[in-house]
Amino acid sequence: MAFKLLPFSCILFLASSILPVLSHIQGPHLRANTLSGNERNPSPFGFLKAIQGCRKGDTVKGIRDLKLYLAHFGYLHYQKNPNDRDLKEDHFDEELEAAVKSYQVYYHLNATGTLDGPTVSQMAMPRCGYHDIETHEHTHNSLHIVSRYQLFQGRPRWASGQLTYAYGPTFPARFIPPVDRAFGKWATASSGYFRFSRTTSYQGANLKVSFQRVDHRDGSPFNGSGGVLAHAFTPRDGRLHFDADERWAIGAVPNTFDIETLALHEIGHLIGLDHSQFESAIMWGSFAPGVTKGLTSDDIQGIRDLYGF
Ligand SMILES: [Zn+2]
Ligand SMILES: [Zn+2]
Repeated sequence: MAFKLLPFSCILFLASSILPVLSHIQGPHLRANTLSGNERNPSPFGFLKAIQGCRKGDTVKGIRDLKLYLAHFGYLHYQKNPNDRDLKEDHFDEELEAAVKSYQVYYHLNATGTLDGPTVSQMAMPRCGYHDIETHEHTHNSLHIVSRYQLFQGRPRWASGQLTYAYGPTFPARFIPPVDRAFGKWATASSGYFRFSRTTSYQGANLKVSFQRVDHRDGSPFNGSGGVLAHAFTPRDGRLHFDADERWAIGAVPNTFDIETLALHEIGHLIGLDHSQFESAIMWGSFAPGVTKGLTSDDIQGIRDLYGF
């Protein structure tokens, strides 16, 4: 079963099993589907506007994109075959209603099962590319139990807290200090268990931090400005990618994203944390522009649980 391969890397899993879904969500097809032709800079999640208010029984163009969105982020799984016809139809069926409810529970919204305004607003928020739900095999009840940090299935982790990191050749120099700070904050939060040292050997580093755009050959293409901001792989892969098409800044600057905040989040994935259900936690999966966030006790407890320091 492909889902059992997840601990190694979510992104490799996606590449091997639902790549068509992924490329649809993040790729040009989806952008071509956005609504307003005269919008100069349409959001990659723009399909949501046309289907706001949809509920079970409806058939509206764009529901297929909602299915692909929810499948990508771990909420939707058709029992028989994830690539089967159901996923490709613009019909709001029972499985989709259950997936919308799961999403609503995860994001602390009213679990109406309809695509209401608050749900569309949350879904349209820029976010990390990593999925929220580790496996499609969760029952809906289990979502109520998980209410804090999460570790990846199989608890993959590094053998040692002494890790090297390096920046890719096109990484903007001005963003190196804030990302260095993010590594430093995780080291401090781990009471010195983690010691991250920067190396000039990109290929030889444990953790490889780079700017990438659109399809960068890891099976998880970025989608231009908005939508997915960054992603990282689970231990012990070590890759962290920022979407070069985003408007990045240092600190809380309106209409931009703070690179240090996203670095803190993605480093959390690199060392073994999944998304948290605490909105204040750095491991919460979505991000508002113009704000900064830091590590919380939830994040630190998660990493302490995993490494036992
Ligand atoms: Zn994430
Ligand atoms: Zn990538």
